[in-house]
Parts: sequence; structure tokens; C-alpha cells
Amino acid sequence: MSTAPLRVLIHGGGIGGLTAATALARRGHRVEVAELRGELDALGVGIIQPSNALHVMREIGVLDQCLAAGFEWEVLTVCDPAGATLARIPQPRMGDVPSNNGIPRPALARVLGAAAVEAGARIRFATTIDSLTDEGDVQLSDGSAERYDLIVGFDGIGSPLRTRLYGDRFTPEYTGFANWRVTLPRDPQLRGVLMSTGNRSAKALLTPITDELMYLGTVFAEAADFRPDPERAHEQLRERLAGFGGPIAAALEQVTDPAAVVYSRISQVTVEAPWHVGRVVLAGDAAHASTPHLAQGAAMAVEDALLLARSLDEHADLGIALTAWEERRRPRAMWVQSLSRAVLKQETGTPTTPAEDELLEVGIPGAAHVLVQPY
Ligand SMILES: Cc1cc2nc3c(=O)[nH]c(=O)nc-3n(C[C@H](O)[C@H](O)[C@H](O)COP(=O)(O)OP(=O)(O)OC[C@H]3O[C@@H](n4cnc5c(N)ncnc54)[C@H](O)[C@@H]3O)c2cc1C
Repeated sequence: MSTAPLRVLIHGGGIGGLTAATALARRGHRVEVAELRGELDALGVGIIQPSNALHVMREIGVLDQCLAAGFEWEVLTVCDPAGATLARIPQPRMGDVPSNNGIPRPALARVLGAAAVEAGARIRFATTIDSLTDEGDVQLSDGSAERYDLIVGFDGIGSPLRTRLYGDRFTPEYTGFANWRVTLPRDPQLRGVLMSTGNRSAKALLTPITDELMYLGTVFAEAADFRPDPERAHEQLRERLAGFGGPIAAALEQVTDPAAVVYSRISQVTVEAPWHVGRVVLAGDAAHASTPHLAQGAAMAVEDALLLARSLDEHADLGIALTAWEERRRPRAMWVQSLSRAVLKQETGTPTTPAEDELLEVGIPGAAHVLVQPY
């Protein structure tokens, strides 16, 4: 390591924050994580770890644990609304790691949390930053006060640290679309993601996340103030997917519990100013949250995390390390954000710009090939 060990505070113990904690602590930095939640829980739905994310998992030493807790898959199947197969698209690998792993979010949180602690990081739960000076003096809500060399904002799309740096200059923009998800018993036939394309108003996906579980997900245009009815969210989901047959219709029959339906509005945010100010740096969703259409948001967050640690290896000066890191990360994260948004527009019949049309020539299958190139 070319820099002396740093005292690092990571604000947010989500997917990116815990990956950064592990990567930094394994290099000898003294790392603390301030996480608002009281424990390492997460919404009980699943997430796809594409090959580039799995490559990062291998670099921080948790690839085997992720694969053991999830469901490895290689082929994306595209169907028409009735369920007839239109295409079977093998997914590329980055190096020799698998092409994809579906995994329940709580399981991923447990794997990453255990790795961070094992590497020597300390996680302070139910804790946030109360105050922060330019010199790195931090007052935490648990009453402790410390001076840190580096404060990393992995505090998600609503990032309070971003607001601290930039006020309301960069705030999440609601796209007008929302994601409905529900975890179900896995159809034994489902060996990879099945994407059923709709009539421009929706697509529905089935994603295996363990031997026993899969999730059904779909995107619909919803008013900004719409919230599912807690008594009949399952019926509202069925109404939206009424036009689908085949495996989607079979999965829908199992959706009987309104409380099992997870509803998330799809927003995005871009910090169009430096991602670091002094000793504070924003990363992951805090800097560049995208729509989930390429399943790459968390993958970008973990790439950010690993490359931040590597940039600190390479540059003794903190400012130079952060500038070099941002120069490397911004183009790739922005490409993912732009293409994800363009795919959302294309799939929902929203007019696209000429620049988006050019990006869409790459499409989802092409993007997978681009993103297995070195990060
Ligand atoms: C519907 C949907 C599906 C998705 N599917 C995929 C997918 O399949 N694959 C993929 O790669 N990405 C996917 N994503 C994107 C992915 O979830 C995010 O990009 C990823 O979680 C970002 O990681 P992060 O660490 O930056 O933020 P988060 O994982 O959101 O973590 C932020 C953390 O900060 C904490 N925090 C917030 N405020 C404070 C505070 N004041 N003090 C302390 N801590 C705080 C939060 O509690 C949280 O633990 C999806 C997103 C959505 C909405």
C-alpha cells in the first residue's frame, strides 16, 4: 500500500458500503461503518449479481459464499406475452466467474456484513452522522466523536451526505414508473431469468434466487403518489399482469398475500459535480442511481467500492486518489445509467432521443458483453 493506513468512516452499510468496508479493511485501513438500520436486514426480495459484480465478490473473497446462498444462471430466456419462447440468450462471463447469480438481498447483506467484520471493520448500527467538519471531525448519533481521514457516502439514492455537500442541487427524479416484486416458490423448470415482453406497457420477469425461491417482477407506469392498497396489493398486481400467459400467469396464481408484494418507485439521480469534496466522497446510488433495467446498480456500487480501495493503493495523496477514482468510474456508471433509462423508455413506449436510440442499438444483451470488459 502506498498510502499510510487511513481512518475511514463509511456512511451506509448497504451493498456498496459493506463491500468498501471489506476491501479497505483487508488493505489495513481502519474502517468504521455507520448504518442507520438497527441490523443487517434488507427488503426480502432478490437481486441479480451479474458477472462483473461476481468478479468484485471474488476480489473481496466472498464469491463462494454468494454462489452458495444464491442461484447461478447462464441463459436469459425471452418469451412473448403468451409464454412462447422467442430467444434463449447465453450470458457472457467476466474472466472465469459465472455469468449471473440471483440471490436474496438479506442473504447478500449477511455475506457482506460478515466479510467486513472478519476483515476488521467495525459496524455501528442505528448510527448516523450528526455533524461533520472540513477537517474530518465527525460527531456520530451514538455519542462518539472521531476524526477521520476519509468519509465515504454509500448512503443510497436519498443520500443525506449528498445533501450535506450539495443541498438540493441533485435530488432523485421519479421516472413515472414503479417496480412490483414478489418472492415465490421457484418453478423447478426455471433455470435462469425469464423475461416476458408485453405490449409496451409492461414486461414481466421471473428470476431464480435460490433452489427454493424465485421472484416475479414487473414495471408499470404509476402516478407519483400511488401506493398499493395494503389489503389488495396482490390483486392490483394481478390486474396489471392480466395479459400474460405461460409461466408468468402460473406464477401469478401463487400471488395470494398482499403483504408479500414489494412496491418500489423507480427514480434516478446523477451528481453532475465532483463526487468528492475535500475528504468526503459519494459513491454507488448516492452518486449515480440508475433505473434497474440492466440489473447493474449494485454492480456499479461494488465496482466503485473495490476501485476506490485500489485507487488509494496507487496514490499516496488522498485528493489525487479520489480524482483518479472518479475519472475512472464516472464514464462507466453514466453509460449504465443512460442505457438503463433508454431501455425503460423503449419498453414503455416513451419517446427516446437520437442519443438514446444509438445506445439502444447495444441493447440489454449487448450491454452484458460491454460490462464484462475490465472495470
Ligand atoms: C426494483 C429494483 C431492482 C434492482 N435490481 C438490481 C439488480 O438485480 N442488480 C443490481 O446490480 N442492482 C439492482 N438494483 C439497484 C441496487 O439495489 C442499488 O443500485 C444498490 O443497492 C446501491 O447500493 P448502495 O450501497 O449505493 O446503496 P444501498 O444498497 O441503498 O445502501 C444504502 C445504505 O445507506 C443506509 N443509510 C441511508 N441513510 C443513512 C443515514 N442517514 N445514516 C447511515 N446510513 C444510512 C441505508 O440504510 C442503506 O443500508 C435494483 C434497484 C431497484 C429499485
